[in-house]
Amino acid sequence: MEQLEVDVLVIGWGKAGKTLAGALGREGRTVAMVERSADMYGGTCINVACVPTKDLVHSAAERRPEDNAQQWFTQAVAGRDALIDKLRARNHLMLAEIDTVTLVDGVARFVGPHEVEVAAGPDRLRIHAESIVINTGTVPATPDIDGLATSARVYDSTSIQHVDPFPRRLVIVGGGYVGLEFAGMFAKFGSSVTVVDHHAELMPREDRDVADAVRALLQASGVEFIMDSAAERITDTDESVVVGVRAAGSTRDVTADAVLIATGRRPVTADLGLDAAGVVVDDRGYITVDDRLRTSVPGVYAVGDVNGGPQFTPVSLDDYRIVLDQFLDSGWRSTADRVAVPSTVFLTPPLARVGLNETQARPSGRDVLVAVKNVADIAAMPRPKILGDARPDQGRRGSRHRPRARRDGVQRRRAGGHQSHRAGDAGGRHGEHAARRHLDAPVEHRGAERGAGGARVHRSRRVIARRRRGSTAGPVDIRRAEGPTARSPDARPAPYR
Ligand SMILES: Cc1cc2nc3c(=O)[nH]c(=O)nc-3n(C[C@H](O)[C@H](O)[C@H](O)COP(=O)(O)OP(=O)(O)OC[C@H]3O[C@@H](n4cnc5c(N)ncnc54)[C@H](O)[C@@H]3O)c2cc1C
Repeated sequence: MEQLEVDVLVIGWGKAGKTLAGALGREGRTVAMVERSADMYGGTCINVACVPTKDLVHSAAERRPEDNAQQWFTQAVAGRDALIDKLRARNHLMLAEIDTVTLVDGVARFVGPHEVEVAAGPDRLRIHAESIVINTGTVPATPDIDGLATSARVYDSTSIQHVDPFPRRLVIVGGGYVGLEFAGMFAKFGSSVTVVDHHAELMPREDRDVADAVRALLQASGVEFIMDSAAERITDTDESVVVGVRAAGSTRDVTADAVLIATGRRPVTADLGLDAAGVVVDDRGYITVDDRLRTSVPGVYAVGDVNGGPQFTPVSLDDYRIVLDQFLDSGWRSTADRVAVPSTVFLTPPLARVGLNETQARPSGRDVLVAVKNVADIAAMPRPKILGDARPDQGRRGSRHRPRARRDGVQRRRAGGHQSHRAGDAGGRHGEHAARRHLDAPVEHRGAERGAGGARVHRSRRVIARRRRGSTAGPVDIRRAEGPTARSPDARPAPYR
């Protein structure tokens, strides 16, 4: 069996892993990057999650009701695919052009604490490294629903992006962030969408006024919600699929053309051979790490979704910083100072948030100050005016909640106008002064930029097209293992998407 010895082995081409491989490779460390699928160079975010879904959300929002749904969707998917192909090739090139980085195609599995076997068809490669970084991510979880496994009309968040024909009726099982994003997207593409969710209320961790605004927004697009319910059975018929939904003690059949299962994700750890290495996982299969992302085995780290932290790409990127710091610097960085992780639900308009919300802050025993303001009413927020979409109905509702400040309170903005933006920070490390700053212009700007997810993607698309013009380099065939590749003298590291 072929053997490879490197300083650092990275398993999985996720955000943290690829960035770490590039940084350490450029520092002259020998690095092996193992990825199990050539369709996943660059990881989940650029191939099947953040970027393609935002591209589709943007395309859906541009459709007018009179546009043919099937044609619009087909064109949107073609645009999505072209964008993703470019990003994937670029991600591959970024590592392929570093002399000290060896790219390996295959499925990695631990055979010892510092020893991994990579399988690609009949080929096997043994890799030994004193430092190993696990970045294998998560995949959609499959709930136990009668008929799900045999139905030809069931999709997950990856496969639904290429659903064909376009579903005129779509049932989404799961009303979490992923489910809602697809609900908004498919409603705008022209589907009649029904969301089935077991919670009594939508978005139970959000403040009620925000969750209600989201629900009203989606209902205005025609999305129907069946809350406090469970999908119990899925049955294909010749022309459609029937979902048996139990709600309020009785069962109701919902007929659709496709069913999207969006009931969460599970870590990719089951087949990693973690037992052979002695790497400990929790009861859900996530790898247990300390605040430096060290696993139970010295020299083995777990980064990104697989370590059970918040499942966002910027969090995976921050994991990279924490591990890199231990390789190249003092190792002071840790997850302990992550006090306010921003997030966005890419509805149209999007819902963005940073820090604690009121629902989380009140039980924490801190003083809470609440402020509410319509984004559409903010003079320095021209986007609603540019788009001609100031949502007068929500604007009126918002004006009843004129900005107010309570001495006891979380600072809060409610944006019933063009976009909903929550800014709450219960002090913590930053204290009240920092919390107040969240209410000022910079946060609103950040909200606006993140809110314009589609525009951001399209800007990037142009940049990438420019950068790649004239370049003949495409994806490199690395069927099994690839040695050092020539690096052009003027090649400069560029940030990953
Ligand atoms: C529909 C959807 C939309 C999302 N939108 C956003 C968004 O807008 N913004 C945001 O911040 N986050 C978003 N997320 C979450 C985001 O995609 C993840 O948090 C992020 O991609 C995590 O990446 P990671 O670093 O954990 O690794 P990943 O990018 O998941 O990479 C893991 C890699 O490991 C490979 N792998 C697995 N096992 C092996 C093995 N044994 N051997 C070799 N290779 C292996 C996999 O093929 C994969 O390429 C979204 C998620 C979904 C599902």
